[in-house]
Amino acid sequence: MTSSGQAVRGRFAPTPSGRLHLGNAMTALLAWLQIRSAGGEMVLRLEDLDRQRCRPELAKLLQGELRWLGLDWDEGPDVGGPHAPYEQSGRTARYERVLDELQRQGRLYPCYCSRADLQAAASAPHGLDAEGPAYPGTCRQLTAAERAERALRKTPSLRFAMDEEATYRFEDGIAGETAFAGASSGDFVVRRADGIVAYQLAVVADDIEMEITDVLRGWDLLDSTPRQLALYAALGATPPRFAHSPLVLGADGSRLSKRHGAVSLSELREQYDVRAERIVGFLAWLAGLHDRIEELKPVELLATFDLSAVRRQAVTLPDRWMELLSGGDTGTTF
Ligand code: GLU
Repeated sequence: MTSSGQAVRGRFAPTPSGRLHLGNAMTALLAWLQIRSAGGEMVLRLEDLDRQRCRPELAKLLQGELRWLGLDWDEGPDVGGPHAPYEQSGRTARYERVLDELQRQGRLYPCYCSRADLQAAASAPHGLDAEGPAYPGTCRQLTAAERAERALRKTPSLRFAMDEEATYRFEDGIAGETAFAGASSGDFVVRRADGIVAYQLAVVADDIEMEITDVLRGWDLLDSTPRQLALYAALGATPPRFAHSPLVLGADGSRLSKRHGAVSLSELREQYDVRAERIVGFLAWLAGLHDRIEELKPVELLATFDLSAVRRQAVTLPDRWMELLSGGDTGTTF
């Protein structure tokens, strides 16, 4: 319970388009520790809206791997719950209702820009973040006649008009005091031209409906937060508390990928026979929660869990990370 008596609810929200790697596993571990240490409830939601990229076998694999690590959830695709379905692909009617509401408020407009138009805009001096360059607002001011004319040639995407005067401030549980100017985020897509509802809209609609109080996710989504805060405000909903966990980088300082070796949990588990407790202990050490590497189950970290101990900067895998993970060496400190 929070001080206001509200039940604490968190979620894992993986996109089943690839295998879980050490970075995703660290985020999942931290999200679970944050909620379980507060006696809260955990939800697993599969963010599988992009049917081209997502695969059911990956969804199954990642659920098995989260459980193998020792993480669990009270609601989800495999266990059901009051907010089912827990696959976003089964929730599109809900998103359409939210889009209708925003449409009624006049917050959405059709955008006819092509990929090439957006690329040309990218060279202009606007902010750049996870969504790409901030949209310069080209289609915001089109007249009805201009829209009708463009609609003959192209199916539009739908964009949410940000309040350019606003500043979005929040106290991030890990990053600390954070602020973004509405203008630097730019108007963002809520439904793609191919009809697929965009991440920002779906995640907010679901987090509201699933009564999520605490969102802990990867640092790469920190700059999505102002967009989501704008949606919460437009929908008259109270936003959750946010915390963004540090990215895990390869020893060369770049985002984890195949070229860094066996970084996926399935490879570590199957090809290298690494025990789940070893991975959990390694991740706890990497995140700053434990001062040495030892085998640990997630439940063993609950009593001492402290979100403020989590590192605020990206963490880099040490050169000898495979050696550290596969055993032997303990007592290592950064
Ligand atoms: N589905 C997103 C991902 O896998 C996470 C979304 C979120 O936590 O808000 O990166």
